[in-house]
Amino acid sequence: MKLNQVLALAVKYGDEGSRTNAREEVGGVILQRKGWKSTVYYTSPRADYSRNTLDFIWVPLHNQHTGTPTAHGLFEATQEEFTKKAIPLLRDGWKRYATFHTHPSFSYHPSHTDLTELFKSYHINYIYSIPENCVAKYTWQGEVSLKQEITRDINKWLKLNESQ
Ligand SMILES: [Zn+2]
Repeated sequence: MKLNQVLALAVKYGDEGSRTNAREEVGGVILQRKGWKSTVYYTSPRADYSRNTLDFIWVPLHNQHTGTPTAHGLFEATQEEFTKKAIPLLRDGWKRYATFHTHPSFSYHPSHTDLTELFKSYHINYIYSIPENCVAKYTWQGEVSLKQEITRDINKWLKLNESQ
């Protein structure tokens, strides 16, 4: 899958999970691996199917704080589920690409725990702020500096990506 398709899935998952009365944070991880463009194979007889493209996959993970007030302001993936769902994929050649989680009540800014725990193991991290209707992408530049890019009007963005 393309990255935009995977992000669209993650946003939908976030909407379904966080727009409930409980307003809990939900999320997961995005993995990537090198894939091959099959269209290139079929359209060219000399098929440069060695040409690599990137393939992405969305792995939703339960919040270990689900059902408690902590889940309103904190997403931490269930480690057991990560081991069960993501580890086999990592063994299969997938690599960690990004984390994705919702902020159902807060802005797109990462919390202290986001920065010190969740963001630690991934180069890229996304936060979907439901009240602000935007997704912020945080990319580490070195160990302490984060580059922030914001996609606003996420519902419009979602429609654009669905029609592609
Ligand atoms: Zn957060």
